[in-house]
Amino acid sequence: MSEYWNERTKNISPYVPGEQPRDRQFVKLNTNENPYPPSPKVIEAIKNAANKNLRLYPDPECTQFREAVAARYGVKPQQVFAGNGSDEILGFAFGAFFESKTVCCSSCCATRCADCDGSKKPAPILFPDITYSFYPVYADLWNIPFKTIPLCEDFTINTDEYKINCGGVILPNPNAPTSIALESDKLLELAKYLEPLNKVLIIDEAYIAFSSAKNAQSVISFIDKHPNLLVVHTLSKSYSLAGLRAGFAISNEKLIEALCRIRDSFNSYTLDRLALAGAAAAIADKQYYDEINTKVIAARERTVKELKNLGIDVLPSSANFVFIKAPNLKGEDFFLKLREKGILVRHFKNAKIADYLRICIGTDEEMDIVLAACREIIGRG
Ligand SMILES: *Cc1c(COP(=O)(O)O)cnc(C)c1O
Repeated sequence: MSEYWNERTKNISPYVPGEQPRDRQFVKLNTNENPYPPSPKVIEAIKNAANKNLRLYPDPECTQFREAVAARYGVKPQQVFAGNGSDEILGFAFGAFFESKTVCCSSCCATRCADCDGSKKPAPILFPDITYSFYPVYADLWNIPFKTIPLCEDFTINTDEYKINCGGVILPNPNAPTSIALESDKLLELAKYLEPLNKVLIIDEAYIAFSSAKNAQSVISFIDKHPNLLVVHTLSKSYSLAGLRAGFAISNEKLIEALCRIRDSFNSYTLDRLALAGAAAAIADKQYYDEINTKVIAARERTVKELKNLGIDVLPSSANFVFIKAPNLKGEDFFLKLREKGILVRHFKNAKIADYLRICIGTDEEMDIVLAACREIIGRG
């Protein structure tokens, strides 16, 4: 704290990312990174872009990357927004589509003028109580009122509970950290409900590439049917590029234009030349990524089965991580015991999920190490 901080800086609670250890060598399964390297074509493209042109600003339109996304998903480049990681896109989207609280001076509040009698405050946006913890951070930063909707007993999302007067909805599909996917039909029904209210539905599909359920797939192909739908993807997980910082959003041209307006009010060049080259090459190499992600899914299925055999509770996962609870062992203790064995996973302090751990799916070798450690800790091996 400093007397030079403004009220905003004093009052925000920033997002806390998972640990990135620099000293000790861990089996690192705490931030949902892909265990496989990016496509060799990506490395080649970045190397080729590392040339004298770095003296020039990058393409503010991100044409190369957006065209690759458009070709891959059968949309127009104007329907694609490129961002410095999907977190940045989400931050812009909150600013572009969700209404902020009316800010007024304290004397005005004291006299309860028409602008702050409560009735003119925008309806809150909605997201689950257990979800990606960046959402409340963006809402607070932009001063957007929000309301959290509790997950059901089994940690699923009931989209009917979001069909209320609100300022918009954001849902990750699959949800994090629960790993549970929602049926696409349910999301489209919700988009339909929000449409006459002029409210946007943002679907954060960070983990959708790992969903093998036929009825829980990306809603990108329905973009043209729902004018209020924005789908956000990241290259950090399924494209093994967390270190590059690239993501994209797909929607109709009007919503994409709104994101550009917000971006161009901050920084016109959010993706550098190396990132643009690497991201475009990644999107184009579908075959490579289908192969590595199929391996991740297979490792997940095996891990789920073996964890269950140890009596561990595992939520049904459609992501590249599992959310688990050991019998008779507090989440924090489980976390520390794994850490002692050199395995880094994620534990959340939130009371509702304090007994759970989120473990990212690594290589087969890494999962063998995790399973052996769990066997020892649970005492069945
Ligand atoms: C990892 C993650 C992101 C952020 O991805 P970046 O592109 O690395 O910023 C967004 N949403 C969810 C749900 C995530 O888990």
